[in-house]
Amino acid sequence: MAENQVQSQKGYSVFDFMQDFGTEDKCEKTLFNWRFPQGYVCRECSNTTYCQLKCRKLLQCNRCGHQHSLTSGKLFAHSKLPLTKWFMAIHLLTQSKTELSAMELKRQLGVNYDTAWKVKHKLLQAMKESEDKSKIGGIVQLDYVYWGGEHRGGKRGRGAGGKTPFLAAVALNEKGHAIAPKHLPRHLAEYCFRFNNRFNLRDIMPRQAKAAVRTPPMPYKLLKLAEVRG
Ligand SMILES: [Zn+2]
Repeated sequence: MAENQVQSQKGYSVFDFMQDFGTEDKCEKTLFNWRFPQGYVCRECSNTTYCQLKCRKLLQCNRCGHQHSLTSGKLFAHSKLPLTKWFMAIHLLTQSKTELSAMELKRQLGVNYDTAWKVKHKLLQAMKESEDKSKIGGIVQLDYVYWGGEHRGGKRGRGAGGKTPFLAAVALNEKGHAIAPKHLPRHLAEYCFRFNNRFNLRDIMPRQAKAAVRTPPMPYKLLKLAEVRG
């Protein structure tokens, strides 16, 4: 049965995570490999050699001198948050069985609420953009989804004020992966992302992180607007 497969699979523990992403150096190396899977290529002149400026953590092309950071133009750009905290946020978000509140993320990361909210919604945006690319087809599975209701100090879980339960009809493709309609709200995208990766807890973290690496940055105002409008 599908549920047993999900429950009995080997998980990805905090120890595994710390082994892979526990230091800023490890996160930077991983990010570099994801961003340049074929090795460094200058985006200005396509040269393939570079040097690393230690003082400002910039990569500089050896031919044209173009400089950029590992995170520039991507979701993590303009963030003062260390990569270790971004990666930990991805780990917590992807390994949690249910939706992770911004308040819980605040506690786990040791950051303020606004930072936790932004981190969470930027990562959900990456999930959404990743899921939006899927195509419609296959059979349909029904499940309960709770949408909204997250605010400071509120009751949490099923009885939380402002949370709207609705029955989500998720179309499945031939591999049994959930398929989302275009432009679906971020929370529904999170549900689809979890559902699609339920058989592979070890891969879901890098999958989400790679989606984040591919996603352009979204300014806070747009992030808020898109959430309200779904
Ligand atoms: Zn160059």
